[in-house]
Amino acid sequence: MIPLFAAYVAGRETDYVRECLDTGWLASGGQFNRRFAEELSRFLGASHAVPCNSGTSALHVSLMLAGVGPDDRVLVSDLTFVATANPIRYLRAEPVLIDAHPTHWNVDVELMADELKRRADRGQRPAAVLPTHILGRACRLDPLLEAAQRFDVPVIEDAAEAFGATVDGRQAGTFGLAGCFSFNGNKQITTGGGGLIATDDDGLARQADHIINQAKLPGPGYVHDQVGYNYRLSNVAAAIGLAQFEQLPEIVARKHRIAARYRCLADLPGIALPYEEPGTVSSDWLTTILIDEAQFGRSRDEMLGCLAERGVEARPIWTPLHKMPMYAHAERVGGDIADQLDAQGLSLPSFAGLSDEQQQHIIHTIQSLYIRTGPPG
Ligand SMILES: *Cc1c(COP(=O)(O)O)cnc(C)c1O
Repeated sequence: MIPLFAAYVAGRETDYVRECLDTGWLASGGQFNRRFAEELSRFLGASHAVPCNSGTSALHVSLMLAGVGPDDRVLVSDLTFVATANPIRYLRAEPVLIDAHPTHWNVDVELMADELKRRADRGQRPAAVLPTHILGRACRLDPLLEAAQRFDVPVIEDAAEAFGATVDGRQAGTFGLAGCFSFNGNKQITTGGGGLIATDDDGLARQADHIINQAKLPGPGYVHDQVGYNYRLSNVAAAIGLAQFEQLPEIVARKHRIAARYRCLADLPGIALPYEEPGTVSSDWLTTILIDEAQFGRSRDEMLGCLAERGVEARPIWTPLHKMPMYAHAERVGGDIADQLDAQGLSLPSFAGLSDEQQQHIIHTIQSLYIRTGPPG
């Protein structure tokens, strides 16, 4: 079976983890946590990088420090992984789900910006906006950043899937007040489980570092000045992350090659790939195609089964949040774009270690499954 994901471990992971074991620096403290933060803040071009134990905790802390609290509203992408929205609820706030864009599939930022204006006209101010850069594809946020500034609403970017993607040469996740990244096992690079908050805001970085360390005050004693969280990244995880980060150029180059090869699938009737917004460079984290049953002759769900029978693990795109019971009653803005993408979206194995032969097998299988439906010619 060709899996959807497999970590790419080809660097100094073992050496660095052994160093943790040899020195006894396994958990908090230790040089890898510090080095990982330094390297990533430099790479991202952000003043601060605060490593966390997951992308979800990075989002939770960022939203908290942006001021989100009980009964607040947060405008968020409808088509995203569920972990984007859950931290809104941890803070007892309510998500407002904004539809996806039909061609690039990220959140429709014009729609999100218009909703900010509409609410401002009614004297309502959402506590934050939370756009996601999905599938490694950086989203141009310009109209949203403008509206958010005008109405004084903080922008938190969920860049969990977009590590290494850029807009006009600048890293996704560095446009808002804070950007959140994930280093879960299936992401561009992994710490085995981890995340990061990137920010230029000194106060936010300092408070984030405090809150994720149980809000412990400096000094030898156990004095804590607020309810904190155990959200810090361990030194062992950071050691793996640093070794992974050193391979990022190789990983991204491999991902670009894989995505480029999959592009031939768009030549088949009924198969579409997302449109690249001008000035954006995708990290090509996960190649996802749309399958139009009327033209291709098979539905997305049929394709899932056919591929599995032939040894390929494909997956549906994210299920829109509004289709899940906990968000079914959330306010929604937009039409049915997320639903259309949900019905047709199929993600294909795109991990850095995918071999040429494996990818050829996937491509040939999809080509062979096309059923000519219309009249010949
Ligand atoms: C993976 C992911 C997260 C959560 O990250 P974890 O490290 O798994 O907690 C959040 N948002 C998006 C869009 C993701 O893909």
